Amino acid sequence: MSGSNEQTWATTAMRTDLCGALRRDDVGRTVSVCGWVQSRREHGEHLAFIDLRDHTGVVQCVVDGAHDLRSEYVLRITGTVRPRPEGTDNPNLPTGEVEVGDCTVEVLSRAEPPPFPIDGRGDVDEQHRLRHRYVDLRSERMQRNLRLRARVNHAIRNAMDAQGFVEVETPMLIASTPEGARDFVVPSRLSPGAFYALPQSPQLFKQLCMVGGVDRYYQIARCLRDEDLRADRQFEFAQLDAEASFVSQADVQAFISEAVAAATEAVTGERPTVFPSMTWLEAMERFGSDKPDTRFGMELVELTERFSATEFNAFKAPCVKGICVPGGGDKTRKQLDDLTEQAKRWGAKGLVWMRVGAGGELTSPVAKFLSEGELAGIVEATGAAEGDLVLIVADERPRVRHVLGLLRLELGRPPVTEGGLQFLWVVDFPLFEALDEAGLPIPAHHPFTMPHDEDVALLDTGDPQDLLTVRSQAYDLVCNGWELGSGSVRIHRPDVQARIFALLGISDEEANAKFGFLLEAFRYGAPPHAGFAFGIDRLVALLAGEENIREVIAFPKTQSGQDPLTKAPTAIDARHLTELGLRVLPKVD
Ligand code: ASP
Repeated sequence: MSGSNEQTWATTAMRTDLCGALRRDDVGRTVSVCGWVQSRREHGEHLAFIDLRDHTGVVQCVVDGAHDLRSEYVLRITGTVRPRPEGTDNPNLPTGEVEVGDCTVEVLSRAEPPPFPIDGRGDVDEQHRLRHRYVDLRSERMQRNLRLRARVNHAIRNAMDAQGFVEVETPMLIASTPEGARDFVVPSRLSPGAFYALPQSPQLFKQLCMVGGVDRYYQIARCLRDEDLRADRQFEFAQLDAEASFVSQADVQAFISEAVAAATEAVTGERPTVFPSMTWLEAMERFGSDKPDTRFGMELVELTERFSATEFNAFKAPCVKGICVPGGGDKTRKQLDDLTEQAKRWGAKGLVWMRVGAGGELTSPVAKFLSEGELAGIVEATGAAEGDLVLIVADERPRVRHVLGLLRLELGRPPVTEGGLQFLWVVDFPLFEALDEAGLPIPAHHPFTMPHDEDVALLDTGDPQDLLTVRSQAYDLVCNGWELGSGSVRIHRPDVQARIFALLGISDEEANAKFGFLLEAFRYGAPPHAGFAFGIDRLVALLAGEENIREVIAFPKTQSGQDPLTKAPTAIDARHLTELGLRVLPKVD
């Protein structure tokens, strides 16, 4: 943290240096440092060691008459930098060779005892920490994460700027967007009974920017979705949102890869050079997931053909696949039963397990139902060796992939800090993810996504099953099993858009009511365009080695969507409600 650059800007009317920056070179200088009392250790009758902390670290100050200085008091200490006495250096501390002596202390603020120890929050309830987030933010971990996040934002802005993108801010009070989650809404005082939606993304505005000739738009956009919270999801999150005209999918992938590479380099010092691509189908077949964690193997192995003539009823299914868990053969019967129950909860009819013994011999309750050839085939296909465990699921193909994909993660996923950052583009997503109860296709991305050129004819065969095979020009960026973001080439032709709306069962009236302004804009000359958005919270969490995005957000909400600090969400008073034309109904349980 030291260095002359930092020193230059660090100097203010109150301080000459940052606490963590003082070194042996500074010996002899008179300095003023400001910060919080990290600790006080008595040293003889009058003297005390005060460790003074700011965001760069701590420095030891030897203070006369320090008995009224308590933890977290805010001080300004002026004194002379001197070497620590022989034998008292602290090699664990960057400032450990020096101390500040002959100190004059000014108390800038007194402080109540902190509600929890600043750097020992391991056992502190998260609710309590968030209630006093301003204290929690003083910890080394939060200081590091916030600064890391700022570096990521800065690198992204530079990378987008260097590629000719223009930062455009889009409105927060808008009409509903088509991302498919629940909107947060804001009542309008001037139009009682009408509501704004907070943006789930700037999707429609960025497309309007393309019609408006912006050519390359980006924004670090705040997006809001009223969905249940989990480790990688908050109500509000930040995205790098981008859109460009006269480009192909490959162009967009290159722009975004560049921004992600720059952000990664800004944090790790190393620039990821390859961002491989994999089709959605391959990802599903090999990893059972559209966001494969490619840090480890245990891939799904195709076994269907090998059981095409099997006598074993459970394997007479449209799809049979397995995974090999290296060294998993030592699992107890109880653990295997638990895994089977888990697989059933995930939708499997059952789970076949096999322990691999010496010479590839398989032990399993179902081994007796399988032929020698089938057993040998399993060993050959999975590459299983002595001590391994083979797990097999037989069912409809999507279900087999889903269950084995989850088992693979459950049994093999490394901790967040291991295996480096494995970025991967997943391409050729299906246009529709399923058919709903009425037989209408559900868009996998949003309804403005362009179908794959080669698959356009499949839209018109009249067979709903054909629709499920239509590929789209949609693509996701994945890292270590997390979906970082997604994007697509958009439909810019009104006739293709009308066709998709018709397939989705969106009537002209509904389309006009929801996105009439976009369709109208397209009538005035829409360039072909494509875009992407990725979640900055997730990228930062990965770069910071944090499992939970709350650790990289300054003021996050709890799992139940509360802010323990400000108490949001809160009731508003009756007069305010009336002004908005609202009445709150009693809660129904
Ligand atoms: N608007 C999309 C999203 O937020 C991303 C995109 O298609 O650009 O997921």
